[in-house]
Amino acid sequence: MAEIIYGNLIAKDVKNELKEQIELLKREKKKIPFLCVVLVGNNPASLSYIKGKEKACNEIGMDSQIIHLDENTSEKELILKINELNNDEKIDGILVQMPLPSHIDENRVMESISSFKDVDGLNPYNIGKLYLKEDGMIPCTPLGIVELLKRSNITIKSKKVVVIGRSKLVGNPVAKLLLDENATVTICHSKTENLKEIAKSADILIVAIGREKFVDKTFVKDNAVVIDVGINRNSEGKLVGDVDFDDVKEVASYITPVPKGVGPMTIAMLLSNTFKAYLNKEKING
Ligand code: NAP
Repeated sequence: MAEIIYGNLIAKDVKNELKEQIELLKREKKKIPFLCVVLVGNNPASLSYIKGKEKACNEIGMDSQIIHLDENTSEKELILKINELNNDEKIDGILVQMPLPSHIDENRVMESISSFKDVDGLNPYNIGKLYLKEDGMIPCTPLGIVELLKRSNITIKSKKVVVIGRSKLVGNPVAKLLLDENATVTICHSKTENLKEIAKSADILIVAIGREKFVDKTFVKDNAVVIDVGINRNSEGKLVGDVDFDDVKEVASYITPVPKGVGPMTIAMLLSNTFKAYLNKEKING
């Protein structure tokens, strides 16, 4: 029976570490890191996500602001607002909540965020840095997955990792990060043949596809580590992952639940990236 990796508990440790550092800054009467979250429109899931982010900032004493723009905000207006935030000295991190309304090009918006303040790590400059193995902002979910594995003392080096999903947000960057940790990585997607067979070869299986309970134990090697990134709502309105948790936990050595798995780590890494952006700016300003 697998050991459950509770991401919410690991995220709490990360947040406590950040909180201590912020308390120290406060005692020294220094500027506090500041995260600005921009939401366009009223997507209910996005509204709940940004509230979660604001709450997390409050918990650790980080300054934050939510800018809520009307659904009909044009791309130009949004980019002008982002330029304003790029030039605002007090703001260290900017996150534009996705998805944006369909009349706005997400890539152009990502490009408009200063690479120094891009705490989501989705600006092309930071994506380039990741692929050049240089220090930049790394997308929060992949960063959270690697942190989860490391803090659970799971060996990555020389292990066979299979990532199911190749999105720019999760699949691709997590594969690159694990390659940089010296794993041997295979990326699978919707056109992959023999998916089950490939998944079953993994020591560490990461599933990020957005299909409710897609992966059952027939995809999983005995004693493999299984990380479930998926967030889906089932017919009863409950959150469920891409992995059939009850089935897979019988064969895996470690498994993340949904909720309380990868999700809380994503928020913790957002705070961590904002703190990093703050430190980078402080270094530049001497
Ligand atoms: P996405 O952009 O829709 O990408 C899904 C990927 O899965 C694509 O590469 C797709 O392949 C692949 N795929 C879809 N169906 C497949 C199948 N039947 N077999 C094999 N591969 C398949 O999604 P995403 O943004 O990466 O998100 C994935 C899931 O993670 C979603 O449930 C999302 O809600 C969740 N998520 C969670 C967090 C968190 O904090 N926990 C953060 C981000 C996302 P193709 O490329 O061939 O289309």
